[in-house]
Amino acid sequence: MTYTPAGQGFLAESEALQTAANSHMPKQVSALDSIKSLLTGRQVPGEGFGKVSGSQTASSGHQTNVQDGAQRLRDAMKRLSDWIGGVNDSDDAYRQNDQQRAQQTDDIAQPVRVAQNAGPTSQNGYPVDPPRSSRTVPGTGVRLNVANGDAGDVLVHVADEFNRRVENIDQNAPTGEADDWGYAHRNVRGSSTTISNHASGTAIDLNAGSHPRGVPVANTFTPAQIDEIHNIVNETGGVVRWGGDYQHAPVDGMHFEIVGTPDQVAAYAQQLRNAQQHQQPAQ
Ligand SMILES: [Zn+2]
Repeated sequence: MTYTPAGQGFLAESEALQTAANSHMPKQVSALDSIKSLLTGRQVPGEGFGKVSGSQTASSGHQTNVQDGAQRLRDAMKRLSDWIGGVNDSDDAYRQNDQQRAQQTDDIAQPVRVAQNAGPTSQNGYPVDPPRSSRTVPGTGVRLNVANGDAGDVLVHVADEFNRRVENIDQNAPTGEADDWGYAHRNVRGSSTTISNHASGTAIDLNAGSHPRGVPVANTFTPAQIDEIHNIVNETGGVVRWGGDYQHAPVDGMHFEIVGTPDQVAAYAQQLRNAQQHQQPAQ
């Protein structure tokens, strides 16, 4: 004889509940197993029971017992289901809270990160597109757009020394165009990945028209001028490099760039300020 076990629907539901319970409350799983055993033990339908017992009253009574038991089980499962739902909701709330906290941590950390490293840096490690200003090289009409602060101070000093000791930078190119440059947002020439130090306002080109990149410096400077340029960069203690000294890239006689660390550059800038104070007449 074929019959539908009275508890089949509940068994299916209890499977789903058990799956949920497994991930949220392992200790409840054994309790749920007990419920299933109980249900399985009662799956003989009232009609079958009546036939076995031969009593309509017994059959009806058993049917009522099964129905009552099923109802209690349904209520219990509803509570269990609600409870698991509540656990899920709590999990979501915790997850959301965690995400919010992580976001807040990021927000707090952001200014620190910006201060330490504002995104892309140029070849020498200085931040690209820094705060910068057009600065006039003393005694000339030349203005150089360089990074604010120590790096810019040092570069303007180098331009000043170059102008007084090596070559007048007011002369401009043979074409009459201004040919002294500072900041420019671009990559190193010939590279698609390395950002030029001009992009961080930490490089300058002086008399570019007279000293093109790739042309041997001996062709455009006298030996005495080259010696004097070396004196100037040596005075910086190595925080400035001359493109004319490049060993592994095309020589760049017009080009000077910061290669010292910010601390080293700050120390040299301070040294320059101190020297300047000494030069000022006593009040
Ligand atoms: Zn350059």
